[in-house]
Amino acid sequence: ATPLDQEVRLTIRESIQSLTNKFDFTYLKGINKDSKGSAQDTGYTLEPGNVKFKFVNPKAKQGDPKEILEQNTRKYTEVMNQKIAGPKDFDLDLIRAPSDPGTYEHANATIVALVRNSEAIGIGRTIRKFERSFNGKFKYPYTFINDEPFSDKFKKKMQSYSDAPMEFITIPRELWDRPESIDAKKQDELMQIMEDHDVGYAKMLSYHNMCRFYLGNFYLLPELQKYRYYWRIEPNVDFYTDIKYDVFKYMEAKKRIYGFTINLYDIDRSVETLWPETLKFLNKGDNYKYVNKNGAFQWLLDDLQNPRNAKTANGYSTCHFWSNFEIGDMNFFRSEAYMEWFKHLDSTGKFYYERWGDAPVHSIGLALFADKKDIHWFRDIGYSHDPYLNCPHSDDTSGCKTGLLGQWEHLLDQNCMANWIDYSMEDTIGIY
Ligand code: GDP
Ligand code: MN
Repeated sequence: ATPLDQEVRLTIRESIQSLTNKFDFTYLKGINKDSKGSAQDTGYTLEPGNVKFKFVNPKAKQGDPKEILEQNTRKYTEVMNQKIAGPKDFDLDLIRAPSDPGTYEHANATIVALVRNSEAIGIGRTIRKFERSFNGKFKYPYTFINDEPFSDKFKKKMQSYSDAPMEFITIPRELWDRPESIDAKKQDELMQIMEDHDVGYAKMLSYHNMCRFYLGNFYLLPELQKYRYYWRIEPNVDFYTDIKYDVFKYMEAKKRIYGFTINLYDIDRSVETLWPETLKFLNKGDNYKYVNKNGAFQWLLDDLQNPRNAKTANGYSTCHFWSNFEIGDMNFFRSEAYMEWFKHLDSTGKFYYERWGDAPVHSIGLALFADKKDIHWFRDIGYSHDPYLNCPHSDDTSGCKTGLLGQWEHLLDQNCMANWIDYSMEDTIGIY
C-alpha cells in the first residue's frame, strides 16, 4: 500500500470507530441484497431512547474511496445513458398538456421563487426557460416571495415573462429574521472559524435566514396555505427539456412527496452536528415513532465514496437533494414529524452557530420520515444550476451533454447519485 492508501484506510477505520463510539452505530460488512438483487436497509433499531442505524455495506461496493468513486461514476453514467421520456411507472398519456390551459383543471400547486428585487434579470432568465420547458403549456400560478416588498418594476417585469397568474408576497419579519435568542457575538466568532474553513456564505446573515426560512416558516406562509405542491425555482438556472406531461399530476397520482434532479455531497464542515442533533431528537420521548421503516437510511449514512465527509459530519454522508430544484408535497413538510424535528433543530440555534443548509436538512427529514419510494428522481428533466447539471438521454432534451454532471473535472467526485440509485431505487422504476 502506498502512504496515501494507508492514510485513506486509516481515515475509514477512524471514521467507523468514531461512529460506533459516539453514536452507537454498528458497521457490518457483507452482503445485503434480497433475493431479487435489490439493496435492503435492514440495519436499524427503532425503540424509545434507543434509535440506531447501521450502515450496511452492500457486497457490490468494495475498495478504497477512489475505486468506489470509479464504480459509482460508472453506475451513474450507465443509468444516464438509458433513454428516458418521463417517469416509467405511470401512463403519461393520462396527464398530457391541455389544449387550453385557461380551462384546465390544475393540480393544487404553485411555482415558487424566493428572490430579491435585485435579482429580476436572473429570475426572468429562469422564467423564460421554464415557460418554454413546462409552464407555457400548463400555466401554473407563480408565487414570488421576498423578505422585502417587491417593487412595481419587479412585478411588471415578471408579468412580461409569463401570462400565468402571479402572486407577490412579503414575508412577515418574524418568519424571516434571526430570532432574538441567538447570540450575535457568538455567531460572529463561530462564523469566522467557518469562513476560515471555506464554508460558503458562513458570514452572510441573510443566507442563514434564507435556509432557516425555507426549512420551516416557508410552509406556514398564509398565502401558501391554499396549495399542496410547490416547484421551487431560482435565478439563473436552466431547463433543457420540453416536458410534455403535468409534473404535479404525476406527483399527485403516484403520491410522491418529493422530486429532485441532482444529488450531491455537502460541505461537511457546515453540518458537523446536524446528524447528532437529529439522533438526540429521535431518542427523546417517543419521537422514534416518526421514523419511516422504509426510509433512505443507507443513502444517509454511506461513507464509502467520501469517508472524510461522513467523519466530519459525525455519521451523515452529507448526501443531499440539491434544493434549488425541488418539487414538494407541503403536507409532508407541515406534518408533525417534520415540524417537531425542525423545532428541535431550531432550538439548538445552529442555523446560525453552524451553517446548516436548507438542502441537507430537507434531505435528512425526507430520508428519515418519508418512504424512500415516494422520493422521485426526475431523471427526465434536463436542469442546471451552476456548476452542476442533470442531462438526460432523451429526444425532448437539447442544449446539454448527456450524462455530464458538470464542466469541472475536480467537482465530479461530488456526485452522490449512484448511492441513491444503489440504495433507494427499485431497479425497474425510473431507470431501465
Ligand atoms: P446558492 O444557490 O446556495 O448559491 O444561493 P442563492 O444565492 O441562489 O440563494 C438561494 C435562493 O434564495 C435564491 O432563490 C435567492 O434568490 C434566494 N435568496 C437568498 N438570499 C435571499 C435574501 O436575502 N432575500 C431574498 N428575498 N431572497 C434570497
Ligand atoms: Mn442559487
